[in-house]
Amino acid sequence: MQTNVAQLLKAPVGSVRNFPIDDVLTENGTEYHVRGELTLIRSTNSILVQGRLETQAHIACSRCAKPFTQKIPLKIQEEFFPTIDIITGARLPKPEDPGSFTIDEHHILDLTEAIRQYIITAMPMKPLCKEDCAGLCTVCGKDLNQGKCGCTQEETDPRWAELLKLKNSNKVKIANPNKQRKKVK
Ligand SMILES: [Zn+2]
Ligand SMILES: [Zn+2]
Repeated sequence: MQTNVAQLLKAPVGSVRNFPIDDVLTENGTEYHVRGELTLIRSTNSILVQGRLETQAHIACSRCAKPFTQKIPLKIQEEFFPTIDIITGARLPKPEDPGSFTIDEHHILDLTEAIRQYIITAMPMKPLCKEDCAGLCTVCGKDLNQGKCGCTQEETDPRWAELLKLKNSNKVKIANPNKQRKKVK
């Protein structure tokens, strides 16, 4: 995801170049195939990069744990600052914001780190295999998308789920007041 922007840096402000992308980026052991087209625009002090890309992530559903593929749109808008004056070859002062992206001394604009950050930001916090995924039964663990199980916990408040799991594993005995009343009779 690199391109030499020497020609564009020499071009007048407002000049535009297209940059098609069809590449694979590896982040945290996962491969992301990134596709789309970006526009590079020569501005007074930098090169503006903008456009829409799309990638796909292979992730697990947060309700039923089933792996699935989700399309992730990436709306890119980023500014890259040259480190060398294209005409004189002199070293340019560093951009004010230390987090800014730069173009290296060979006039190579490298989008890899920027796109990696966009992917991380765009990843869904709670991915769902489908909008109405029924999830897993909190008692028996059955995938409820494949039909109901025999458990009587339809109305279980999710906040009680952890407690119920403990109860079923017999680690915690929850007193049943009804039983005690029967004994008294
Ligand atoms: Zn699911
Ligand atoms: Zn169940």
